[in-house]
Amino acid sequence: MRVLLYYKYVDIPDPAKETEQHRAFAQSLGLRGRIFISAEGLNGTCSGTEESIEVYKKYLNEHPLFSAIAFKESECEDHVFEKLFVRRRDEVVTLRSDVSAQQAAPYITPAELHEALQRGEDLILLDMRNDYEAAIGRFRGAKTLTMENFRDLPKFLGELEEFKHRAVITYCTGGIRCERASALLCKHGFTNVRQLEGGIVTYCDQYPNGFFEGSCFVFDARMSTRPKGELHPRYISSCSFCQKPCDRYIDCSEIHCHELFICCEGCDRLRQGLCRAHHIEKMYQNC
Ligand SMILES: [Zn+2]
Ligand SMILES: [Zn+2]
Repeated sequence: MRVLLYYKYVDIPDPAKETEQHRAFAQSLGLRGRIFISAEGLNGTCSGTEESIEVYKKYLNEHPLFSAIAFKESECEDHVFEKLFVRRRDEVVTLRSDVSAQQAAPYITPAELHEALQRGEDLILLDMRNDYEAAIGRFRGAKTLTMENFRDLPKFLGELEEFKHRAVITYCTGGIRCERASALLCKHGFTNVRQLEGGIVTYCDQYPNGFFEGSCFVFDARMSTRPKGELHPRYISSCSFCQKPCDRYIDCSEIHCHELFICCEGCDRLRQGLCRAHHIEKMYQNC
């Protein structure tokens, strides 16, 4: 099985029709995952057999709108999604700003970034992901935000004022958020911005023992992935209970609680998958 991650910013004249056609094709291949289609482009992540993923990639490559996508692929044991969702959306990634990907900053390739970091160049690595993503893995020395949702990025611009005239490199998981985040920074007067081409996923494929430390958060059943080919697992996070090095996220098992927290397998068993607040609540109930 494989997981495919991809996006393309392209004008889609009839997103409703495209969504229908796309859904029918993806369904026929037995793919599972989330595919969003809007007038500005396509954003997807899905799992399937090696064969079906190949057929799907060929379909995209031969499609008049979707050719030349830089696919990111990884192996997996089983489907990493429960179902297939193909949805029409207003934007491929939600951001409370009217900037478009056409205004995006130029790219820096993983190789260029890696060499610049090896030379010790004076760069600001700006993590454009949410706080819980950066908590388990990020570039060494990166500036992270306390943002819980990408759409709130405009609220955090004030915090970045000091970097306006520094050499800034934005990065995210696969690059899609940076297309717009970097455009937003340029629009707000940042004078030297570049975005990491292909994001963390592509960098780690090329440099599994490089400057990215920890795990890469992913929005599927795996929750996170480690660079394939890393020599020693590096952890930058720890279990919320016992503090041992850990990058394992779980959802609180209390039905109405959506708390996402880092928890090792041992503590998970002991506390029955409950977050700190709910575990304490249960203890009092049992007194
Ligand atoms: Zn623990
Ligand atoms: Zn809870």
